[in-house]
Amino acid sequence: MKVAIMGAGLSGLACAITLERNGISPHIFEKRSDVGDRFINAELFLSFLTSPVNNNYQFLAEEHNIFLKPSNLINQLNIHSENKKAIVNEQVGFINIRGRHKHSFEQQLKQQVSSKIHYQSTFTYEELLKEYSHVILATGDAGYALDLNNYEVDRSVTLKGATVEGDFKQSSIYVWFNHKIVPNGYAYVIPFSEKEANIVIAYPQFSSIQDEDQMWQNFYDILCSRFNQSLKVTDQFHVKDYLIGRCIYPRIGNTFFTGNCFGALMPFLGFGQFSSLLTGIYAANDICGEGQYEKLIKPIRKSYNHSLTLRKAIERTENPTMDKIVSGLDGYWGKKFFKPSKFNSLNTLSYILRPFMK
Ligand SMILES: Cc1cc2nc3c(=O)[nH]c(=O)nc-3n(C[C@H](O)[C@H](O)[C@H](O)COP(=O)(O)OP(=O)(O)OC[C@H]3O[C@@H](n4cnc5c(N)ncnc54)[C@H](O)[C@@H]3O)c2cc1C
Repeated sequence: MKVAIMGAGLSGLACAITLERNGISPHIFEKRSDVGDRFINAELFLSFLTSPVNNNYQFLAEEHNIFLKPSNLINQLNIHSENKKAIVNEQVGFINIRGRHKHSFEQQLKQQVSSKIHYQSTFTYEELLKEYSHVILATGDAGYALDLNNYEVDRSVTLKGATVEGDFKQSSIYVWFNHKIVPNGYAYVIPFSEKEANIVIAYPQFSSIQDEDQMWQNFYDILCSRFNQSLKVTDQFHVKDYLIGRCIYPRIGNTFFTGNCFGALMPFLGFGQFSSLLTGIYAANDICGEGQYEKLIKPIRKSYNHSLTLRKAIERTENPTMDKIVSGLDGYWGKKFFKPSKFNSLNTLSYILRPFMK
């Protein structure tokens, strides 16, 4: 058996680690010159999105022998709408770092891989298919899945972000749902040290934004005023046409679609780390004869559908209704909703909303 992994990101490396534990040494092909060789970005695991799994780190370690460390716990979630604010003082999840940072998830996973990673790879999928009995498509985009007519797009999203220097509470994160700031989208701040944070706006293509620079400047000004300091921008990124969708067949022949190639990116808030890691692990489980990929990924498919319903709902929620929701989340109900729990309240919400979101 000869296994090629195309892409040394979350799903590709998780796949490699799981294969190696079962005695298979894959060949890993990465187009960049190191793992995570891109902008630094703080990302999250939020318990309420993955319940009944509340502690993603513990779950990955105990169930799958994948060992990752967060950069911080989140003890406070600040949600802003046009006129209201909810402060949720609860341990709602974890912050981690991605990209060109020595503690990034990519670097942490790389340390657990012993197979050689072939950097600056220019191999195409077709070339790998000729040479290998199994190919894992883990390129973090839908490119090949689209070429193979194996992908349905639900949203195309733009993310504009920056690293800023300032003074931050490392365990507090901030999000804005306000169509006047980001139409149909959201904006957020995630600190990854006491002195640095990422600030990001995310909106779907259908928003037809006329002047993105103006929208960005407006958000930046709001932040400087909210944090009562002048935030110094030290790095910037712009991700255009980031596709949220799902592949139709998770596996074609011996090609496995994993991570974002599979449809691990959840539409509601664009979270995909946990499902990406799982799809990589599940593809390896299948290759090692420990399960069937199509069956193992079923819960992720279900979560995707729930998440898409919630995305549609949030896009359609006007500012006055959002004010009411945010106001309701301040205090007792916010704590109850976001606190780690075995009960997935989002799925229930999605069942209730689905008939209205056709
Ligand atoms: C700005 C932003 C913020 C996000 N925030 C969150 C968050 O807070 N929480 C969360 O859960 N998710 C978040 N996500 C989503 C999450 O990062 C992704 O879902 C996840 O990283 C996808 O994993 P993957 O394995 O599919 O791809 P990646 O981890 O992106 O890895 C893909 C790898 O493939 C390589 N590659 C690409 N093309 C080729 C090729 N042709 N040949 C060889 N190698 C190739 C790339 O260089 C890369 O190393 C965010 C995404 C973005 C863009």
